[in-house]
Amino acid sequence: MTVRRGAGRRAFEILRKVSRDLYWCDRCNVPLLTRVCGLCGGEGRPVKLTPPADARPALGLEYVQLWKLIESELDAQCPYPRRRIVVLNKIPYVDSADEVVVDGYIVGHRYYDPLRGTWRFKPLYYGVSAILKSKVGYYAIADVETLERGFELHAEDLLEANLPRRGSEKFVAVGTKSGYEGVGIYTKRKRIRVLKSWRAKSFEWNSSNPSWLDAARANEARLAVLEQEAVDFLRKIAAKYPLPPVVSFSGGKDSLVAFRLAQKAFGNVPMLFNDTGLELPETIEYVKRVAQSSGAELIVASAGDAFWRGLDVMGPPARDYRWCCKVAKLVPTAKALRERFAGGALSIVGQRGAESASRARGLRVYENRWLPNVIVAAPIHSWSALEVWLYIFKERLPVNPLYFKGFDRLGCWLCPAIEMSEAEAVKRLHPELWAKWEGYLKTFSEKRGLGDAWVRLGLWRWLAIPGDVARMVRLLAGQEPPLSARGPRFRAELEGGRVLVELEGFNGALSFEALAEALSSLGVAKVEEGKLTLNGVPVVVEKTEDALRIAVEGAKRVDDVVKAVVRAAYCIGCGSCELWCPKGAIKVVNWRFRVDSDVCAHCGMCNSVCPVAEYATRAQAFENFLSQARA
Ligand code: SF4
Ligand code: SF4
Ligand SMILES: [Zn+2]
Repeated sequence: MTVRRGAGRRAFEILRKVSRDLYWCDRCNVPLLTRVCGLCGGEGRPVKLTPPADARPALGLEYVQLWKLIESELDAQCPYPRRRIVVLNKIPYVDSADEVVVDGYIVGHRYYDPLRGTWRFKPLYYGVSAILKSKVGYYAIADVETLERGFELHAEDLLEANLPRRGSEKFVAVGTKSGYEGVGIYTKRKRIRVLKSWRAKSFEWNSSNPSWLDAARANEARLAVLEQEAVDFLRKIAAKYPLPPVVSFSGGKDSLVAFRLAQKAFGNVPMLFNDTGLELPETIEYVKRVAQSSGAELIVASAGDAFWRGLDVMGPPARDYRWCCKVAKLVPTAKALRERFAGGALSIVGQRGAESASRARGLRVYENRWLPNVIVAAPIHSWSALEVWLYIFKERLPVNPLYFKGFDRLGCWLCPAIEMSEAEAVKRLHPELWAKWEGYLKTFSEKRGLGDAWVRLGLWRWLAIPGDVARMVRLLAGQEPPLSARGPRFRAELEGGRVLVELEGFNGALSFEALAEALSSLGVAKVEEGKLTLNGVPVVVEKTEDALRIAVEGAKRVDDVVKAVVRAAYCIGCGSCELWCPKGAIKVVNWRFRVDSDVCAHCGMCNSVCPVAEYATRAQAFENFLSQARA
């Protein structure tokens, strides 16, 4: 199941460092965060999970569908005991994939096949032993001494078997009399191709069926230590940075725990919810309910339709092209924080290191260049998902109902970080939302000749498609992954003290006044007698049917001119420059920035905080890279 090369391997190594241990009490049949069980005092058995071992409970629909999936994969009644406690642990793959743990034993991998658009279950280890022992599901006892990956078992190699009627790519549990076990796939040529094998280990299912509340009780001591440490941390940070605390509440489980910890540290704390315009309605309702029931002040930041306006200019966001986060998250959050806390704020967030390699690299206390006068503190940075969930059960906190409807991660419903399995969950719950997005992607893909796989396999989620995904596309779709840059196209060069910028494909209107307001970031820009000047030197502007050329004399950096020109031509009115301008010279009016040239100090800050300018520059760099690669 593992797909780890290059960048994937580096991310894996980073996540390994934040990996947490998991134990299992065989007497009480509960997962343990530390070796000792809080229910019986006995010692737990280590459960070896794939790093970062960010295990979580299977809940609601996910739980129900898991048992159905196992049965449909085995074409038999599930041979594993149907416990209330089932643990899922994310593993690296091209889409969603989890180790499935029952009674503290890994019974297999559940994973989403993005090509077929279905979930699969592959029995492994104890899951294979259970099939062989019960003879329920597809299995084969082979008359071979050893079992190795790549072996093909023919009918004459088998002592006993229950195989699918036709070659079907179904998984088959394989055992040998010599003590090997493995899993194979039943091929169209009616052979079992061994995918993985190991030495069989004996085990017994447990006989008890406790609940997650029992598991929380078994871990109370560890949860108390975690809570105390996090509360102390928050108080220490608040003493160091005497700013009013506010919890950034996304509606997810992690921010729910951060909120509870902040309440314990400071009493009643306001919560800030940023409505990106891409929240599922369940989340919006839920956030209101939590605020009401806790009596906390709810500050709502709203991006309105900033994402959709940005889309026209920037094209679909991608994991390596997240203009959306700035436009729909950080800018509205910063605005709301500034309005409510003029002197700055201590923003408490639910970020955890195990969520991703970039978060694992991040600090527990930091400043974000997009959030002026804000110190960000992440009290549960080192917590695992299981610690978060057990804390929620212990405190009986009200979780977002989406966790019971097949979602294990919440956020913008069309975030490029989603897996295709998560897109399926959105599609199932809110088909109208996904249809709108898919319609947009199809039109975008058609215009650029990117083909069907670009939408179907979710390739829009990257500019540079990672190696494992590219391999999947080659293998499954039989084609090279189509690559596409997005966003405004431009060419820029410095020629003897003159910067030339050409906006390709620009067919909108752009007045000298609008250009002057953007160029005032570089110096004194004026429009007099129908002429545009910068620092007294004429700016040459040439407009053709589908391009705009601008020549600016005496600018120090090409990049600054590019950013000013891109802002002038493609402003989406996100308000970042208005927020950051140290002179208060900018106002966004009708989704466009306006500069009061009498107040502007030409500091250039507005260029450096414009997400459109920043991401257009990044996208152009990628386009240049593609052109070179094609040449
Ligand atoms: S940030 Fe404000 S003061 Fe600085 S260049 Fe832009 S408009 Fe002028
Ligand atoms: S120019 Fe200002 S308002 Fe317009 S997109 Fe850039 S930062 Fe946002
Ligand atoms: Zn116990």
